Parts: sequence; C-alpha cells; structure tokens
Amino acid sequence: MKPVFDAAPVNGPFDDPSLYVRILRESRALLFDAGDIGGLEAGNILRISDIFITHTHMDHFIGFDTILRAALSREGSLRVFGPSNIIDCVEGKLRGYTWNLIKDYPIRIEVFEIREDSVEQAGFYAENSFCRIDNPSKRFNEIILEEPLFRVRALHITHAIPALAYSLEEDFHININKDMLLSMGLPVGPWLSELKKAIRGAAPPETIIDIEGSPHRLEELMPLIMISRGEKISYVMDASPDKENLDKIIPFVTGSDALFCEGYFLSEDSDRAMERNHLTSALAGRIAREARVGRLELMHFSPRYRHCADELYREAEEAFRGRAL
Ligand SMILES: [Zn+2]
Ligand SMILES: [Zn+2]
Repeated sequence: MKPVFDAAPVNGPFDDPSLYVRILRESRALLFDAGDIGGLEAGNILRISDIFITHTHMDHFIGFDTILRAALSREGSLRVFGPSNIIDCVEGKLRGYTWNLIKDYPIRIEVFEIREDSVEQAGFYAENSFCRIDNPSKRFNEIILEEPLFRVRALHITHAIPALAYSLEEDFHININKDMLLSMGLPVGPWLSELKKAIRGAAPPETIIDIEGSPHRLEELMPLIMISRGEKISYVMDASPDKENLDKIIPFVTGSDALFCEGYFLSEDSDRAMERNHLTSALAGRIAREARVGRLELMHFSPRYRHCADELYREAEEAFRGRAL
C-alpha cells in the first residue's frame, strides 16, 4: 500500500520541535508544533492547512508568525488547534501588528481550543482586520479533525501546564479482491465506489447495490472486500515524566507506525526531568516498546547534551528494543 503521509521533523533535535507532515495525495501539509521553521521553504509553508500546537511555550509556537506571513494572501482557512489558552495566544500574536491594509486579503484563521470537555472556537478573518469572533463551542470527543482520508486525535497531558499529544491516522483501506470479482462473474465499474462508500458508511447488510441494472445485497458482495488498516503517526512532545501521563500516552500511541517523541533528558538526570516536566529518552523508548510502535523518532533534546547526543539515542534504543544501537 502506498504511504499517505510523509512526516519529517523540520529541525535537528537540539533546535525547536516541529513536525511537517505532507499529505501525499493532496497538495497540503499539516504541522505539529510551530517552533522556529525558518528551514522550511516558502512553498512548503504555503501548503500548511492545519497547525497542531502541543502547548504555547516559545519553542513550540514562535513559528506561527512565519506561517501567518506566508499565508496572508492565500485563499482558504488556516486552522490552528491547541490547548486551553490557544485562542488568547493567537489573538495576542495578531494584536502585535497593525492590520489597516489587510481587508482585501482572503485569509481566515480558525482556532480550536481543546479543553478537558469542550472545544472552543474562534475565528480571525483578514476581512475583519483579524478581530476575534467567538463561535459556538463543541463537546470534546478525542477526534478533533475528521477528513475522508484521515483523522487527528488529541490527548490531554500535563507539562506543569495543560498540553496535548496528537495522533494522525489514515482511514482504513478497502481493496477489492480482483480474483473473487472474476469468479463471481461481476464486472468492474462505478458500482465498486458505491460499494466502498456503503462500507465506509457502515451501511446495513441488506443495503442494495446496483450492478449495471441488477440489484445485489451488500452482504452478498462482502467476499470481495479486503480491509487493511491505515498508517498511524503519533506526536508526543513536552510531558511530565509521571505515571499519570505514561498511562494515558501508551494506549494513545499504541500501534503507531512512527512515534515522534521528545527525549529531552538522560535518565541519569531524572530528577531534573521531573523538575522541568520533560520525558527522558529512556521513557520515550519505554513508551515505544509498550505501545508496540514500528519506529521511534526521537526529537527535542536539552542543549546540555550537545556533546553527547548519541547517549540519548542509545538510551532510547535500549529501552525500546532491549539493546544498544
Ligand atoms: Zn514546554
Ligand atoms: Zn519544548
């Protein structure tokens, strides 16, 4: 199956965290955290349709201005998701500039503030000089963005302040067993799209699918169907290294093909990790092992380890696979 996501950190592990995810079948990208993204080309910044902020410490949010500047004359919405305070933080950034020449610009910024039980929504539109417009809130139910191709989930974690972790999951694939199609004597045709649509919509078994004028029940056609799970990517940055966070993060990232996780401290500095509310590389490895992820991508290291980054990788690998690199 062809991959749907191409995910790569924008910077090295000692620079600000940001994960750029290109949606390969669409000309767009998602950005998880917006640290300093000066390394991204303008064309790639323009592709960003949705930004998912874990928390608004400066190293995770300073790149918002870069995106805003690039996106000003772009058509369509820029969506920003983040923890409680994100609406105020976006508003604060926008208020830091003067917008008297902006009314003809098309950009619309939609902000979604993920609280414990609700998602607050506010819009900031160029046509309105980016004045805040509060929209009705919704109930929080883990899935914060649902599209035909994928969905994004958010998890509440703590980092001395409320923070979020995210997962990006491709929808499952529905494939047609061509041999079975042949042996059932059925033609290839547009009805196959109808069939897939019915399955995606969880239609009842007695649903009728019209195959070139002849009606067939959905349940008769099920032997044609092969379902395979889609790709899953998880993103876990600054998190207090406590049991409560780990107990939530592990099930949340379970089964990820790739887990992008902070490995901020070495475990010999666990006291410091606790004090500063960051994970150690060993904990990142443990999360990856217990969640049976395919690949662990360490990000976001404390500058104190600039001379010994390999120790952080080794510690994570040992905890993940039980052996050193
Ligand atoms: Zn932080
Ligand atoms: Zn950070």
